[in-house]
Amino acid sequence: MPRPIEALIHQPALAHNIRRARACAPDAQVFAIVKANAYGHGIENSFEALRSADGFALLDLDEAQRLRNLGWRGPILLLEGCFETRDLELCSRLKLWHAVHHEQQIDWLAMHKTHEPHRVFLKLNSGMNRLGFTPSAFRAAWTRLNALPQVDEISLMTHFSDADGPRGIARQLAVFQEATADLPGERSLSNSAAVLRHAADASVRADWVRAGIMSYGGAPDYPEHDIAHWDLKPTMTLRSKVLAVQHLHAGDSVGYGSTFIADRDMRIGTVACGYADGYPRHAGHGTPALVGGQRTTTVGRVSMDMLAVDLTGLPQEGVGSEVTLWGQGPHGGVLPIDEVARAAGTIGYELMCAVTRRVPVHVETLG
Ligand SMILES: *Cc1c(COP(=O)(O)O)cnc(C)c1O
Repeated sequence: MPRPIEALIHQPALAHNIRRARACAPDAQVFAIVKANAYGHGIENSFEALRSADGFALLDLDEAQRLRNLGWRGPILLLEGCFETRDLELCSRLKLWHAVHHEQQIDWLAMHKTHEPHRVFLKLNSGMNRLGFTPSAFRAAWTRLNALPQVDEISLMTHFSDADGPRGIARQLAVFQEATADLPGERSLSNSAAVLRHAADASVRADWVRAGIMSYGGAPDYPEHDIAHWDLKPTMTLRSKVLAVQHLHAGDSVGYGSTFIADRDMRIGTVACGYADGYPRHAGHGTPALVGGQRTTTVGRVSMDMLAVDLTGLPQEGVGSEVTLWGQGPHGGVLPIDEVARAAGTIGYELMCAVTRRVPVHVETLG
């Protein structure tokens, strides 16, 4: 028998979350962001549930190829565009839309031989200072692209650095609007946080929204809001089982480094899940978990293959009990990945991308 750990991908929840993106931006088209192998869910595992989106956006050309192999003929946008001149051949062959965020990408296009001109998304650096043309260089880049026979449609894109927080988007939105004021073309500005928090403004929804983390049941602004607040459902469950039970007395310790010392009698369950499965070692004592669908917490340090949970208040649970590390538990219980991430000093995005290859993945398909 394999180790009892597994990851479940919930297609009904993915489909629900995409509907939520649509409901927040009903007049916009929705890109489902599937970079990083669909945020660790697997493009192939997620595709049927996400194909109700209007397009997919990602970074890796091989992931674009995989989407075409699945039969997707609709839009695919490369969010970082091409990395070298050769990539344009694949863009032509697979009919990929691609971001243009620096001058060299325009040089490559100008030399590219193609029968069918490309659609590009010209990226403005409106303040994030990661990718994109500065406001002062933007118009010249647009003019250059517009003169190329290799390009037939130029869309306009930017990315918000603070859509999830108190700084908000007003400043970057104003920069975008000024830089693009009289330029034609479709526009795309919003990630999940902007879709959830700022999309009452039609200029924020614009023509295309880019739904990443919300599609995967993460709240971009946790802990200010959780997924229940945003009506999102967990799309990935990491679950395992209790392998062993230990009875502790006051003064006994648990795990490497004896970082946890019991101050009373306790019952501890040893769970087949560790950092080699992608569970964060930084998740300290007290990180939430579900056992048999009931809430408890981890105890002591996470080791490579195991961690411990407190069963003291759960006398009916023991060897073989189901442990939900995050996601959907039995009896309708939910443990949002954001809660576990926070206990580990990170964000849900990182945990869902980090489940390792040794964890078998199963898919709950659309009903
Ligand atoms: C990853 C990414 C997104 C999606 O962000 P979420 O916060 O996951 O919604 C949108 N746009 C760009 C350019 C991205 O790189």
